[in-house]
Amino acid sequence: MTSSTTPSSEELLAALDDDQRAVAQTLTGPLCVLAGAGTGKTRAITYRIAHGVHAGVYSPTTVLAVTFTARAAGEMRSRLRDLGVGGVQARTFHAAALRQLSYFWPAAIGGGLPRIQEHKAPLVAEASSRLGLGVDRVSIRDLAAEIEWAKVSLVTAEDYVARAVAAGREEAAGQDRATVSRLLEIYEDVKTERGVIDFEDVLLLMVGILEEREDVAAEVRRQYRHFVVDEYQDVSPLQQRLLDLWLGGRKELCVVGDVSQTIYSFTGATPHFLTDFPRRFPGAEVVRLVRDYRSTPQVVSLANSVLERAGRHRSSAAVRLVAQRPSGPAVRFEAFDDDVAEAAGVAARIAALEKSGVPRNEIAVLYRTNGQAEAIEQALAQADIGYLVRGGERFFSRREVREAVVLLRGAARTMADHPMPDAVRDVLAGMGWAPEPPAARGAVRERWESLQALVALADEIAAARGADLAGLVAELEERAGAQHAPTVSGVTLASLHAAKGLEWDAVFLVGVSEGLLPISLAEGEDAVAEERRLLYVGVTRAREHLMLSYARARTVGGRASRKPSRFLDGLWPEEGAARRRPAARAPRRDRLAELTETDPEGAALVERLRAWRGQVATAIGKPPYTVLHDTTLAAIAEAKPKDLRQLGILRGVGAAKLEAYGPAVLAVVRGEDVVVEPPGA
Ligand code: ATP
Ligand code: MG
Repeated sequence: MTSSTTPSSEELLAALDDDQRAVAQTLTGPLCVLAGAGTGKTRAITYRIAHGVHAGVYSPTTVLAVTFTARAAGEMRSRLRDLGVGGVQARTFHAAALRQLSYFWPAAIGGGLPRIQEHKAPLVAEASSRLGLGVDRVSIRDLAAEIEWAKVSLVTAEDYVARAVAAGREEAAGQDRATVSRLLEIYEDVKTERGVIDFEDVLLLMVGILEEREDVAAEVRRQYRHFVVDEYQDVSPLQQRLLDLWLGGRKELCVVGDVSQTIYSFTGATPHFLTDFPRRFPGAEVVRLVRDYRSTPQVVSLANSVLERAGRHRSSAAVRLVAQRPSGPAVRFEAFDDDVAEAAGVAARIAALEKSGVPRNEIAVLYRTNGQAEAIEQALAQADIGYLVRGGERFFSRREVREAVVLLRGAARTMADHPMPDAVRDVLAGMGWAPEPPAARGAVRERWESLQALVALADEIAAARGADLAGLVAELEERAGAQHAPTVSGVTLASLHAAKGLEWDAVFLVGVSEGLLPISLAEGEDAVAEERRLLYVGVTRAREHLMLSYARARTVGGRASRKPSRFLDGLWPEEGAARRRPAARAPRRDRLAELTETDPEGAALVERLRAWRGQVATAIGKPPYTVLHDTTLAAIAEAKPKDLRQLGILRGVGAAKLEAYGPAVLAVVRGEDVVVEPPGA
């Protein structure tokens, strides 16, 4: 680069390989980039826009780049600015459509744009009740998802039954298809009566205006002359319709995608538009990128193997990646005894990576369902590792979890004499929990997963500390508080779906076992094939460090019935080999046992700290572990801090604990007898 901050066109093109350069230099006409993960698709189209502007072929404001997420759009805009190009519109389909709709609404429809109703649930509930359907909250979520599918698939109430059958849709929330068709109709009525529109309406209404108003269509087409779409394998028929209207028969369209990363087909997206592109645009340039610049050969090799094993489900458009980066660490495969041990093992590995210099925000833990995040959130919180949850609610913010905690708090008063794990099961059974997972998919399953996570947690706490229901509630509240603390730089927790297009130095794929990946409810070859692509997306997010893990049993002491994912057949090391590695145990047990052996003085200090903690707990009327966790006591005993600063840096000692208990803890460490006064004394 020259000293000037704006790179020249030559410099831009020099930062690309030959194939990427072909993309960047094909500035006009239909262009289709079919390329694997990490081959620089997003980079190539960004440079293409910059080069087109530098070369004077594009005026920046006439380019519309469509990306999959708002974050990706923001990244592309800042990338373009770095390359000396401002003023390009990089947006999601939704954001682009909303901008146009708001602009044209007053003239095309009149008045102001109606309010956009973000959550469909209240509207679906009203529509269901008008139909006399006695449906619960969970069914309402499933019905809302079905309405979304219909709308993004351009399926109307009239053709719903036939189209749902053809698409192999399951009966949503157990309602027959004719009923869902009626619901679609009434849902629209309810929306109109309330004067609101939903998310899909933003695109549908813009489509309607463009179809009916020649003047509006002409104005939009004068504004935008060059279109670029990233992640095109996951475009929906509705988005495609809008894109076609923007184009208005012109051919200035560049699409990039990877059929092997199609992971939204259950919501109505389809790779068909990508694979069919050369047919729809005869004479289109087709460029294939195969050099993987993101990941080490170790990661790339696993990614290729995962796809190769797809057999006849491997798309002919799939590409075999060729690694460009130098060799890195071997991919790790780890089997753990249960979910808790798996989460603890991942947390321990993350701590080790951080020690070796990998920053937290370069680490991600990816999972199939949001329900799996809970164990990981707890393990990270316990290990004092900050994290952010992407594309999903934090466990303790989920509605069913908040409700469950309220009910458990009530039960702590009325069911105090019941054994705690039984009481928890009774209470949660009232919310729809059952020992076996439900047969349904979607919201029903997610809700069950959340409640099951609470049951497992109750068992664990009962086993570890013999806590009663009040103790459990206190612990849940404490965990909720700790996990809500905002984190600045944290490990990313994300579902595989939300991880699309992103990359990290280190990636942990947890729960890669049959039943979780593929998810047990993925029935039929197509559904299973999509699950395999999810694994491929997950693997290809890693630049350098990649660990795949699963737990043999769900719960501590449970039956070890889980097997590694079928997608890893022949790739997962033999069980014997995996077992030879030291299995991660829960850190608490580890540390204490170790301490007793290696540091008897430390072990004695743990006992004194426990005795002091017991007094504090009695004085404040709370369970002991809400004062300080066992792990923290072990850490204190190990470190034997001499002052508040040394104490403050230990795990589990936050500012509040330091202020409340710091001096007393230091006194116990010094060997003094500490008398705990009851509060107010
Ligand atoms: P995905 O399929 O996951 O969306 P992608 O094909 O869009 O991946 P990019 O995200 O554009 O890939 O690129 C992957 C990584 O490789 C990025 O960090 C990018 O900067 C880097 N990269 C791409 N091409 C080159 C190149 N020619 N030289 C150096 N680095 C490159
Ligand atoms: Mg990309």
